[in-house]
Amino acid sequence: MPQGFDILIRKALVIDGTGAERYAADVGVSGDRIAAIGNLAGARGETEIDATGLILAPGFIDSHTHDDRILLSAGDMTAKVSQGVTTVVGGNCGISLAPMPEPVRKPVTPPLDLLDETGDWYRYRTFADYLSALEEQPAATNSAMLVGHTTLRAIAMDDLNRAATPAEIAAMQALVEEAMQAGAIGVSTGLAYPPAQAATTEEVIEVCRPMAAHDGLYATHMRDEGDHTMESLEESFRIASEVGVQLLISHHKLAGVNNHAGRSKPWPDRQADEGAARLS
Ligand SMILES: [Zn+2]
Repeated sequence: MPQGFDILIRKALVIDGTGAERYAADVGVSGDRIAAIGNLAGARGETEIDATGLILAPGFIDSHTHDDRILLSAGDMTAKVSQGVTTVVGGNCGISLAPMPEPVRKPVTPPLDLLDETGDWYRYRTFADYLSALEEQPAATNSAMLVGHTTLRAIAMDDLNRAATPAEIAAMQALVEEAMQAGAIGVSTGLAYPPAQAATTEEVIEVCRPMAAHDGLYATHMRDEGDHTMESLEESFRIASEVGVQLLISHHKLAGVNNHAGRSKPWPDRQADEGAARLS
């Protein structure tokens, strides 16, 4: 009897994700597990795939997405699985589809409209409700979700053009605690976007505090990614260190013609240096 697998992938070029050089191998899968990797020329598979000339790799993690709604509305996730993505991280840049304890205000405030411009999908009253929906109707990819500070502001505040009051901060903290208990992986901010621009550093620190006990992640679309990148980095470092959590700077970049030569100092110092250089 030849060795048997549910799926046998023959003659693949394997890149196994460990950093090892690529190598030629057959891969046998039984159930949902890789059962064998090597020369399986004598084996048989219920399904056999000839991978001659193709690369076989573990699924990719798309670590920065806004897939909160599409996981539910188009769960085949064709745009992702067709590229080899098997896990997505959502809830980035301060915007998450949940929680939304009351029907969302319409028209949906940008950038919340990025997830759903109709507002109808902002239907999950708690973060736990949202995660239950994902579990009941599993998408083709795995997902890990952040809870968004801008979404929390839209719930807790009637005027987004100012910093949150202590009572509003307390309301947002309770929602962060509920989300972390339900299974959120951390809190994201989008301090570059108008609905969160008026949030102070202290507001963000306080809102994020409950996630420290859950080993959460602070993911930020920083306040500035151009001339004030250095200050924004300092703010991000301060928030993560005061909360006591790990920091992820989303789409970290240094934009704008003033920065084409790179930057290692905050903007005013750099201007002073360049002024001095011109004078000398
Ligand atoms: Zn962003």
